[in-house]
Amino acid sequence: MNAPFQQPPAVEAKPPLTVLIAAPRGFCAGVDRAIEIVERALDRYGAPVYVRHEIVHNRYVVESLKAKGAIFVEELDEVPDNVPVVFSAHGVPKSVPAEAERRELNYLDATCPLVSKVHRQAERQVEAGRHIIFVGHRGHPEAVGTYGQVPEGQMTVIETVSEIESLEFPADMPLAFLTQTTLSVDDTAEIIAALKARFPGIVGPKADDICYATSNRQAAAKQVAAGSDLVLVIGAPNSSNSVRLVEVAKRMGKDARLIQRASDIDPLWLEGIETLGLTAGASAPEVLVRAVIARLGEWRRVDEQPIVAAEEKMVFKLPRQLAS
Ligand code: SF4
Repeated sequence: MNAPFQQPPAVEAKPPLTVLIAAPRGFCAGVDRAIEIVERALDRYGAPVYVRHEIVHNRYVVESLKAKGAIFVEELDEVPDNVPVVFSAHGVPKSVPAEAERRELNYLDATCPLVSKVHRQAERQVEAGRHIIFVGHRGHPEAVGTYGQVPEGQMTVIETVSEIESLEFPADMPLAFLTQTTLSVDDTAEIIAALKARFPGIVGPKADDICYATSNRQAAAKQVAAGSDLVLVIGAPNSSNSVRLVEVAKRMGKDARLIQRASDIDPLWLEGIETLGLTAGASAPEVLVRAVIARLGEWRRVDEQPIVAAEEKMVFKLPRQLAS
C-alpha cells in the first residue's frame, strides 16, 4: 500500500518585519536604584511602604510595586506617622525631607544621584550670589524638586529659546544656568547657545546637566530611526525622556509613536512597514519590550537586529540605611 500523501510544511504566511532595536534602551541606573530602594524597604520594614509620587514614571513598575505592598501618594501629608516613606527618583524640594524630619518619619531618598548633583550645583550657584536660569519643563517633578533647592526668587525656569527674549535682569546681576537631566540634547544645546549669546557672562556646567542615560538613549534612537519606516517608543506620556525619544525620531522625518504597552499597537500601523525601530524610555522595563516583540510576531515574521549606540555600566550605590 502506498504511504499516505503528506502535505509539505506550511509556507510561513506572515510577511517579514525587520525590527531595529535600540541599545541602550529602558531602565537606567537611577531607575534601577529607585526600584531597588522600594523593594528592599518592603523586605526590611514590611508592607506598607509609602512612596511619594510615582517612583518612576511607568504604570507597570508602579502596579508591580503596589502588588508587593507599596502605597503611592502625592504629598507627605498623606503618609501616616511611623511608616517608611520613599521619595521618587525625580527628586523633591528641600521642604519635603525637612517636613519628614519634623515628623520624625523614616524616609528613604531615591532621588537619582545625577539629579542630586544638579541640586548641589543650584545651592552652590546661589551661595556664589548668582541667579539661576533653569532649563526644564515647568511642573515636571524634577523641575519642581530643583526649584525647591533654593530660596524663592533665586531661580527662573525656561522651556524654550523663545522665552529668552523676554528675560530681564539687572545688567550687573551674576547669572548661572542649569538644566533638567532628561531634556532633548539638541534643543538644550540651542537654548544654552542662545542664553550665552544674550547673557555673555552667564556660567554653568561645561555643556549641560543632561544625564548619560538620556543622551545615550537619544543617540541610539537617532541611529534606529535613520533606518526605520516607523519608530515605536515604549514609555509613559509623563516620562520626559520617553517623550524626547519620540521627538528625536520625528525630527528625523520618521513616523514615531509613544506606546505604553504591546496592546496599544494597532496592526494598521504596520501596513507597508518593512523596518520598524523600537526603543524604550529610561523608566520602561525590558518585559514591556519583549511583549511588544511578541505582539509584532503575531502578525509578522520578526527579524530582530540590535543597534548599539553605547555600552552602559553605571551603577549607583543604595542609601546607607539599605546598603547592607
Ligand atoms: S534618566 Fe538619568 S537622571 Fe533620570 S533616573 Fe535615569 S540616570 Fe538618573
